[in-house]
Amino acid sequence: MKPPKNTWWEKASPSEIKKRQASLLHTFLKTRVIPFVSHYRDLFEKEGLTADDIRSTDDLVKLPFSSKKDLGETKDFVVIPDEEVLKKQPSTWLKILRHGPRGVKQALAEELRPIHMTSTTGRSSEPVPFLYTKQDLANLEAGGLRLMQLSETDADFRCINAFPFAPHLAFWQAWYAGIANTCFCLATGGGKVMGTSGNAKMIDKIQPDAVIAMPTFFYHLVNYAKTKNMRWPNLKRIVLGGEKVPEGMRKKLRKLCAELGSPNVDIISTYGFTEAKLAFSECKVPQGHESTGFHLYPDLAFVEIIDPETGERVPERTRGEIVFTPLQARGSVVIRYRTGDIIEGGITYDPCPCCGRTCPRLLGRISRVSDIHRLNIDKLKGTLVDFNALENVLDDTEGVGAWQIELRKHNDDPLETDEIIIHLVSMDGASEDLENIIRQTLKSATELSPNRIEFHSWKEMREMHGVGQELKEKKVIDNRPK
Ligand SMILES: [Zn+2]
Repeated sequence: MKPPKNTWWEKASPSEIKKRQASLLHTFLKTRVIPFVSHYRDLFEKEGLTADDIRSTDDLVKLPFSSKKDLGETKDFVVIPDEEVLKKQPSTWLKILRHGPRGVKQALAEELRPIHMTSTTGRSSEPVPFLYTKQDLANLEAGGLRLMQLSETDADFRCINAFPFAPHLAFWQAWYAGIANTCFCLATGGGKVMGTSGNAKMIDKIQPDAVIAMPTFFYHLVNYAKTKNMRWPNLKRIVLGGEKVPEGMRKKLRKLCAELGSPNVDIISTYGFTEAKLAFSECKVPQGHESTGFHLYPDLAFVEIIDPETGERVPERTRGEIVFTPLQARGSVVIRYRTGDIIEGGITYDPCPCCGRTCPRLLGRISRVSDIHRLNIDKLKGTLVDFNALENVLDDTEGVGAWQIELRKHNDDPLETDEIIIHLVSMDGASEDLENIIRQTLKSATELSPNRIEFHSWKEMREMHGVGQELKEKKVIDNRPK
């Protein structure tokens, strides 16, 4: 099965996008979701709705949201076809006409049989598996090709995919991006397979044009390369995924790449999540320009932005929670899925000022709703602490290398107050000044004073982050007794 080749996602007007999405959504619900996905069959019945009540993406508001807590039984969210129903569908007859009575079996298997899986990596919750059919892999490949096109990663580039080998979206998205773009792409398996030194040596040998990796891991890699006096003068693109990429992190990575001999790297951030079964990318902007946002693929997904409190849709370019509905997925399917991700600048349907594409875009930084925690900092009342703001301060402060936030109980006593300790690597060794700057910035940005700020070497921080041991670096660690 080949990835969808259409190009209207790049150039259709907002009204054309709306028209096409209405038709895709209606067909998807009518022929695949309501007949074959038990959770949504039940939900439509409970709400007294049929597919014909949802004629456009505006009608979707009639349907309640789905969220992580609904994703109980995996099979309830999978398209599991019923042969008798399939036989009666006009789309099956079209398939028989196109592929012949024998070919139709194979065509249906490619569309509907799950053959691949990735799962979520929640820190606190059980991993939730998401199934892919060949059609989903074709969509993933289409997403990969668009990622390469948006980032202007040419087919003759040599690439390194440094995501960990794992059943997680990031690795597979990068894998299919290389295949779709027919470019040389070496998958190192990340830190867990060959460590920081192994990855650095591989990059030193291949001298890639592009590296696709998680930001914190790549940050450790370039620092390691710097201490070993390596030269990586061929780097042109750093494509990041799996974690958010604050502006401060981009600046630091750009500076470090320049020190390794590549002063003109473009840093491209991507946004994906397990339930989307693909990732969206920024386009390459001229040096010194700000990102123009994550470019969405309106043929594959409908994204709406809602007020996380009321659930109402918000106007364009307004902060809110990202809600996702696929339009051509098979295997595991979620409709009106609340991601728990907040997009600061909302969504826009204006053409991209940089590349001119007309697909919708998500603007500004993304933060997690669940990153706001209630801590018992003073004994009397809980204090809401926004870890996004805390992390942004650390990422944006010049002179801060890597960091880790640790939560402890005072004296390790479960009944005592919570403590926040910030662990840091200083870029230029001036620790006392840096401590003062961080205390002041944190105070003004978050009204928070950490109990302690502790300084470490890069090597210590690599161990604390679990580079080489963990799939994702541990940037926030909770050491409170349970
Ligand atoms: Zn663009």
